[in-house]
Parts: sequence; C-alpha cells; structure tokens
Amino acid sequence: MGTYGRQNVVFVRGEGCWLVSENGDRYLDFGSGVAVNSLGHAHPALVAALKAQADKLWHTSNLYRVEGQETVAEKLTRLTFADCVFFCNSGAEACEGAIKVARRYHYVSGHPERQRIITFRGAFHGRTLTALSAAGNEKYLEGFGPEAQGFDHVEPGDLAAIEAAISPETAAIMLEPIQGEGGVRAFPPEVLRAIRDLCDENGLLLVLDEVQTGVGRTGKLFAYEWAGITPDVMAVAKGLGGGFPVGAVLSTAEAAKGMTPGTHGSTFGGNPLAMAVASTVLDIVSEPEFLEDVRTKALHLKQGLSGLMDQHADVVEEVRGEGLLMGLKLKEHVAPAEVVKAAANDKLLVVGAGDNTIRLLPPLIASDKEIAEAIQILSRALSRVAREVR
Ligand code: PLP
Repeated sequence: MGTYGRQNVVFVRGEGCWLVSENGDRYLDFGSGVAVNSLGHAHPALVAALKAQADKLWHTSNLYRVEGQETVAEKLTRLTFADCVFFCNSGAEACEGAIKVARRYHYVSGHPERQRIITFRGAFHGRTLTALSAAGNEKYLEGFGPEAQGFDHVEPGDLAAIEAAISPETAAIMLEPIQGEGGVRAFPPEVLRAIRDLCDENGLLLVLDEVQTGVGRTGKLFAYEWAGITPDVMAVAKGLGGGFPVGAVLSTAEAAKGMTPGTHGSTFGGNPLAMAVASTVLDIVSEPEFLEDVRTKALHLKQGLSGLMDQHADVVEEVRGEGLLMGLKLKEHVAPAEVVKAAANDKLLVVGAGDNTIRLLPPLIASDKEIAEAIQILSRALSRVAREVR
C-alpha cells in the first residue's frame, strides 16, 4: 500500500553504524531504523544469538512456558522498577497493553469507572486505533472512523492543566519522557517528579512510553532514571530487539494484579527468536561501562550539534534531547525533509520529526570518529539548505 513516502534507496547490508546500498554506496546511519538498531547492524553477538536459537526452536505460542521469556523477564525485572512483564511484538502493542493494564487495575480495585487516561499533545504511541486516540494527533486519525474513547489531552509541562484534567474517572497519566516523533521534546525531571506526585495523591497509575527512549538510548537504561522516579507501568520496544521485532509491557505486581489468565494475549509475543536477541541486547546495554560510554559520546554529539547551531544560526533554532536521542529544531522557513534529503545525498541518514525538527539517533555503539563525521556532513547539508532557502 502507499502508506510510506520512502527514500529511493535499497540497503542490502549493514555493518555497525554503516548501511551499504545495492550500488555499493556506504551511508552513515544516524537514524538506526528509528531508534531500533541499538547495537548497530549485524552485531556479532546478536547474529550469533539469533543463529543459535534458529537452529533450536522458533515458535511454540504462549500456550506453553517459553524459556527465553522467563530469562528476559528476569533481566528486565532485575534491572528496572518492574515485577512482571508481558511480551508483544511492537511499540504500539506495548502501549495498548499498558493502557489495558492501567484500566484493568482500577476495574479489579473496585473502580470500574476509572477508565480515562491523561495524555499529552505532541505524543506518539503508535498507529493502532487506540494508540492514535491516545496521542490525539488529528492528522493521523483523519478518515479512520470514531476515535477510541477515554483520553484527555493536555499540553506537556502544564501542571495546572494536568491537575485540572484529573477527575474521578481518571485511571492514569501516560507519557513519553522525551517525545520522539513529536520533535525530541523532553519533560524536565522536575515536571516528571511533579506528575509522579500527582499520580500518588490521586490514586492514578503513571504509565511511561519508553518505546523510543528506553534500552540505553538516553544514556541510562531507561529515561525515567534521570528524574529519580519510577513508573507503575511502562511500554518498551524498538531498541530492545536491536532490529528483531519485540515489545514488552513492564509493570509493578500491584498495577498488573488484574492481568489474570485470559485477560490479554499474543500469538507471537515473546517468541524464542525475539527473546534470544533481546536477552543479548540487555546483557550488553545494561553494563554500567556501556552506559557510561553512551553518556560520554552523547556529550560529544551534543557539543557538535551546539557548534552547528552557532555556525548555522540562520537555519537552526535549538538543540534538544538527551543521550543519543538528539534533535535540531530548524527555523520556521526550513523544512526538516530538506535537511534529511541533503544529508542523505552526502550519505548521512537522519530522521525527521514533528515541531520542525530533525532527529539524530545513532546506534549506541557509534564511535567518536563517526559522530565527528556525522557533524561534518550535517554541517555541509545545512549550508546547502541555507543557500537554497535564502
Ligand atoms: N511509542 C513511541 C514513543 C514511539 O516512538 C513509537 C514509534 O515510533 C511507538 C510507540 C510505536 O512503535 P511501533 O512502530 O513499533 O508500533
């Protein structure tokens, strides 16, 4: 179907931070398949884990215990706030699962009326009908029939508006610690702490969507750690599989107390192949030295981008983001697609986002040399775009 406005290039091979096209051109991949290739392309440990599992067992369904799920759930619960995990295949499914957990919690707590979820303008939770309604972006909902009910949309950062939106029917507050698709817009740590307090004072669950920010992307294993808070429920996907489709809903035992046999399910979710890869990704990314290294490199990327803003003040308005989830907000007269195209012409892949922003999401294994190279290419691309729009 014609659902994508694709760039006219076919990649046939990947090596670390590099993609090789069918005519042999090498591209520096600072998009990571939209924050998915956390360990770059063809990481030897991931390839080995997948091949070893492929020789043994691919799929059994969730009618039976799945060894890999138990292993990955043990790691996720050891490394995070969570006591239990549900596995699915994508970010949208993880968000849907998190919404179900939150509503069901209140249902089994004797408050079936508590169904509404406060969400934020500029959010993105995926393309299923409920995830679209949760985010409330009218452009994405147009023509797809009645919206799913039960979401109250407020401006990020407007604590008074959040408080005013809380009613006896509110079940949860759901947010991305940094809105990725929305333009790399972060909730400041003090706002996250205030939202956590509001949840506690009002008996609400805090649901985080860390589909894009999770698994080391911001320099912590999960972005909530920066604010010193913990959620009750969290959606994870993208980087967890390093390129193999997988999603997960993490929860405290209390929040998930309504998720009893028969309340939710997935045929493929937590498939042994996905679990073999996710387990290896977690082993590597959760190492303190690995995350320390991400933070050091992130500093270099941020410095490079700040330099670009100084050099190209006519086209760049702001540097945003945390860790290796960085954004350049462009001046109003410059379209992100133009910069993405100019960079791709010079063999650097970056990704557009909302709020007139481009995103840089390199693999977490990017070297300082690759970061410096990306900054150089981006600088040339910005110069070209600046000349064209003048
Ligand atoms: N949530 C966030 C924060 C995302 O960035 C995305 C995808 O970009 C999703 C959910 C949806 O994930 P998927 O495309 O895997 O369904």
